[in-house]
Amino acid sequence: MARIKPQPGVMDIELYVGGEASLPGVAEPVKLSSNENPFGPGEAALAAYREAGASLHRYPSSDHRALREAIAEVHGLDAGRIICGAGSDEVISFLCQAYAGPGDEVIHTEHGFAMYRISALAAGATPVEVPERERTTDVDAILAAANERTRLVFIANPNNPTGTMIGGNEIVRLADGLPEGALLVLDGAYVEYVEGHDGGAALVDARDNVVMTRTFSKIYGLGALRVGWGYGPQEVIDVLNRVRGPFNVSGPALAAAEAAVRDQAYVAHCRAENARLRARLARALAEIGIPSDPSAANFVLARFRDAATAEAADAYLRTRGVIVRRVAGYGLPAALRITIGDEDACDRVAGALGDFMARRGEG
Ligand SMILES: *Cc1c(COP(=O)(O)O)cnc(C)c1O
Repeated sequence: MARIKPQPGVMDIELYVGGEASLPGVAEPVKLSSNENPFGPGEAALAAYREAGASLHRYPSSDHRALREAIAEVHGLDAGRIICGAGSDEVISFLCQAYAGPGDEVIHTEHGFAMYRISALAAGATPVEVPERERTTDVDAILAAANERTRLVFIANPNNPTGTMIGGNEIVRLADGLPEGALLVLDGAYVEYVEGHDGGAALVDARDNVVMTRTFSKIYGLGALRVGWGYGPQEVIDVLNRVRGPFNVSGPALAAAEAAVRDQAYVAHCRAENARLRARLARALAEIGIPSDPSAANFVLARFRDAATAEAADAYLRTRGVIVRRVAGYGLPAALRITIGDEDACDRVAGALGDFMARRGEG
């Protein structure tokens, strides 16, 4: 096989490690490792998904018009400037494929989402990691790293796995300061958890160098179906559509997502429950000596004294049937990311960590 080699960069990709879903010997573990909505999808989305089962022999829409129009109507956007993907991961991949190649640089932040680096490398481009300040996106650090080779700058706001956010003025300063030829991508996977936040849609409308991505995997509870979307300048969306496969989103996924986006009452309900339970979990953790940054998303980043303590806490939680996410791969070896589950799950994880801290004599 010595003569048969993958493209440069491909072998630098470390395999994505997803949140674990099972524990040996535990029938129903509490899964708080993938930022999923503990309440699942809403009734309307489920009904649309079941109904789509009657048409499995038909190819899906290739232009996703019905879903794009529903998204546009609900969010007040231009349907012609929306692109749908098999998860927002696919939109991120389209962006890298279309705009970055060998010799080009793709900026992401220190604790940024793993797919930015993976997609940049898959496209043959060079990922550039920029420091954060106190686990928060640092606009000055990004601007200092940007140069004439920069093609894409990815930031998630709120960020994963930190849960922190930067304000609209900072985003504008970033978009203003980037060199010509660089596109700013605002990953809004958790935007729905922030009351009244447009994810940067107005900024996309006002400029020619900003793209927003969104997903149905988080608050909409449809991670299994793989649907996400992007909103950007017309020229950018036209470019991305050239690299998109014609049937990249399945029929049941399109149907469920369309019903889900029209059901904003369910989204509001999930947002309110998440805010209530997040405050409750963060308070419970603080009381037992585990700090976390104020989170704007559906998880908290619990910080321990050191990496060994975080690892021991994770192992102990497993013995109690609770799966959370280690984030050493995100440069946070002393932290655990805990998804906000339902009330019972929040109480279980807080109770187990309380026992862990008491046994260790911590807190
Ligand atoms: C979960 C997540 C996504 C969404 O991925 P999908 O492919 O839409 O499921 C995108 N960005 C970030 C930062 C995420 O945490």
